[in-house]
Amino acid sequence: MALYAQVIVDISQEKLDKTFEYRIPERLCGALGIGMQVYIPFGRRRLTGYVVEITKEPVFDEDKLKEIAGIVEGSVPIESHLIALAGWMREHYGGTMNQALKTVLPVKAKTRPVEYKRVRLKLEDLTAKNQLAEYQRKHSTARERLLAALLEQENRELPWNVITGKLGVSGSVIRAMEETGVVLVCREVRYRNPVEHLQKKGNLHALNAAQRQVADEVIADYDAGIRKTYLLKGVTGSGKTEVYMELIAYVTGQGRQAIMLIPEIALTYQTVMRFYSRFGDRVSILNSRMTAAERYDQFLRAKNGEIDIMIGPRSALFTPFLNLGLIIMDEEHEASYKSETVPRYHARETAVERARMTGASVVLGSATPSLESYYRAKRGEYRLLVMEERVEKKPLPACVVADLREELRLGNRSVLSEALAGRITDRLGRGEQVMLFLNRRGMAGFVSCRACGHVLKCPHCDVSLSWHGGGAGRRGRMVCHYCGYTEPEPSVCPVCGSKYIGGFKAGTEKVEAIVKAKFPGARVLRMDTDTTRTKEGYEQILSGFANREADILIGTQMIVKGHDFPHVTLVGVLAADMSLHVSDYHAAERTFQLLTQAAGRAGRGSRPGEVVIQTYDPKHYSIVAAGAQDYEAFYEQEIEYRKLLYYPPVWNLLVILCAARDEARAAERAVQLAESIDSFKRACGEKLFVTGPADAAVAKVNDIYKKVIYIKAERYETLVEIKNRTEKQAREDTGYRDVTVQFDFNPVNGF
Ligand code: ADP
Ligand code: ZN
Ligand code: ZN
Repeated sequence: MALYAQVIVDISQEKLDKTFEYRIPERLCGALGIGMQVYIPFGRRRLTGYVVEITKEPVFDEDKLKEIAGIVEGSVPIESHLIALAGWMREHYGGTMNQALKTVLPVKAKTRPVEYKRVRLKLEDLTAKNQLAEYQRKHSTARERLLAALLEQENRELPWNVITGKLGVSGSVIRAMEETGVVLVCREVRYRNPVEHLQKKGNLHALNAAQRQVADEVIADYDAGIRKTYLLKGVTGSGKTEVYMELIAYVTGQGRQAIMLIPEIALTYQTVMRFYSRFGDRVSILNSRMTAAERYDQFLRAKNGEIDIMIGPRSALFTPFLNLGLIIMDEEHEASYKSETVPRYHARETAVERARMTGASVVLGSATPSLESYYRAKRGEYRLLVMEERVEKKPLPACVVADLREELRLGNRSVLSEALAGRITDRLGRGEQVMLFLNRRGMAGFVSCRACGHVLKCPHCDVSLSWHGGGAGRRGRMVCHYCGYTEPEPSVCPVCGSKYIGGFKAGTEKVEAIVKAKFPGARVLRMDTDTTRTKEGYEQILSGFANREADILIGTQMIVKGHDFPHVTLVGVLAADMSLHVSDYHAAERTFQLLTQAAGRAGRGSRPGEVVIQTYDPKHYSIVAAGAQDYEAFYEQEIEYRKLLYYPPVWNLLVILCAARDEARAAERAVQLAESIDSFKRACGEKLFVTGPADAAVAKVNDIYKKVIYIKAERYETLVEIKNRTEKQAREDTGYRDVTVQFDFNPVNGF
């Protein structure tokens, strides 16, 4: 049987979809695999390319195809590894090879490298000081500012953008000073280095006994040539990050490289700083605020061997390190490790696969491991490592569960229970800090009519609108968090005309107002997606709070990660059960994780911490377990529930999504696909559960209707086969071009 290969010739192209088809000669059929570098005839020339796909049938006219000339021998380029990984992702998660390639291969950006400019003092210090006095006399304040700032620098120079940014001195002023011979502007072209503005200052902790033991175990395996996946379960503040750094130091010391995955939200200045102080400019970072060109530069630096540690969210996993030795995934339970675009890969599984392909170890870390990982660790697939105590034996915070129903019975209608309010007063009196944590942004109040019950919804999406702004007699706006649609807050019900429309539940803004009213002397900061539109906004609030510029910080989940606030001794969770009411089988797990992580913020300094969990559902096992800080108890209950309902991690779940502008077409297509799956189910004889088609949890987004089919199977491979069959069916039925079909394996973000 003949085989055909799709070959990509130049992967530094902006577009990766330019592939060429070749016939695979008989002699190479067994030897050729995805990712391999091959010689191909190309016009009159002979070029090298990469095999990205192997098919049984040709796409083009068989007679016109040329043959692959041979396999390139010698060392395997990094691109081969990444293309092979893309092939695995495509098979495992669905989508096209091109979508997978775009995910793993850095795409060359159009822009040229940035020119870096530094401004250096040209005068001798003494002359410079005279000049400074001269500027002062003439009231040339901008020049004075720059000169004074330069004199403060040990090396008497500053980056151009710091001067024009922070110092507020314009480019024309700098040029004028250059012309008069006061300063010199130095230009150089180089790769953008996102961490260069940080100062290296070593503050190494010696590992304590528990940390040492964990690190030594991994290192011993590593030395023995054993590569595994480890799950480090360490309570909040047990010093996991120090362990990661120790392992990274070890592996990079052996000439190999390391990738450190961190959820974007936890990738704060403070975190980056810890790595930078230890590893200096051998570290780079990636984040979503970087431009494509900046990201590409970081990948080039990795490929060129200029760095050996990459820190970043999900996509940092594809850093083209040639000799990768270690992948660490901090907060491995975070839902953000799952991609929301095709291919919908999970970075955890993909990391394990990349490590397998390249002979690296994987360390997953969390205080509250995902059910998936803990289940695997219990079954021996991952090696479990545990740190039970906080560093320096600091106690875990004490937990109080406040029953909001009881409060209501006693006549307290406030969002703050007596238990919490009393403790806030106490902390304020002692000059300690408080964090108040709101479970979900979605709480930020839908608006409904108290007369007819009408809820304001987005006209394009199947979700209620959230109330924003207003206050002090002004009207607010209604905002859709899915598509950005906004409209003014109505004064009467659009359905029945009643004036009694409103009843916003407490959002962060509302809580801020309540807290300020109740504690007029307190300085309050609020952090949510509205106050942190920019990176600076986010860092400013965090560092402001860390510098004790405020007493109380109110925020959504983004306040629970990545920062140490040693003066926080009280954490309040305002409505712990909010996240229990979402229609997702992860609801209890998310709730437990959020509560435990939030609690973990308290008592990280010298004084012990306390947590108040407010809830309408104090008997729910996830809240009871979080109150007792008992992961095992939570896990045992939760895994029983998953077993009972055949949910992951016990079984596997595939969601097939059909989306179209025309609701009937989406439904029709979904019914057809479900019928084919049913007949496969009868033929294969394996136990499968097929449910649906049904509306997706959010049935309409941006005027696109979504129908879903759920399939549960014990074996993941069975689901892959169903995916392959469905993909083939979707490709071959040309009558349904208007319906998109997508796959989501073991979804973690609802569906
Ligand atoms: P985790 O990641 O488990 O929450 P961290 O690594 O952030 O914990 O450590 C918590 C705090 O303890 C940090 O401020 C860190 O600098 C400090 N720390 C960690 N290890 C040690 C150690 N061996 N000795 C002293 N302080 C430590
Ligand atoms: Zn009404
Ligand atoms: Zn909308």
